[in-house]
Amino acid sequence: MSLFFDLSFSVPVAILKIVLMLLIILNNMLKIITYPNEILTTPSRPIENPLDPQIRNLVKEMIQVMREHKGLGLAAPQVGKNINLFITEIEDELLVYINPVIQKVSGKEVVAEEGCLSFPGKYLPVVRQNKVKIKFTDIDGKKQILKASGLLARAIQHEFDHLQGVLFTERAEEDF
Ligand SMILES: [Zn+2]
Repeated sequence: MSLFFDLSFSVPVAILKIVLMLLIILNNMLKIITYPNEILTTPSRPIENPLDPQIRNLVKEMIQVMREHKGLGLAAPQVGKNINLFITEIEDELLVYINPVIQKVSGKEVVAEEGCLSFPGKYLPVVRQNKVKIKFTDIDGKKQILKASGLLARAIQHEFDHLQGVLFTERAEEDF
């Protein structure tokens, strides 16, 4: 009698607990903000303490979201945070840019199709110069200066624009 009692109650309770846990996990996962949303067009603010554990956690989650969606980059406003932070991952090189400042954009102008996780399925030709020099703080709080070219330079310019509240559709050669 007691065995029957245990099974009939503990199994459904265990399942319910698992379902609840999954719901909590899903609810806590970052969601990508898609256009139109005011967050995407609001300029971001500087991060006062790059070593804040909350920043480190946010970066971890952003990396997960970017990889899940097969993105080359992701900016904090795209996950609902108007702070100066973005990440890129190109050719297996993951970079975290905190409080980035573009120091120089140079090189020839190149047109290429660009996409954005905030505009699912949308690709538009955008002209950008193919070299960029950017200053930022990395995830360990170290100041970095990076000179990039090609696809990385394009991704950096695209993500940096997000922090200014500028979207690639505004730079596109075709109307959105
Ligand atoms: Zn984007």
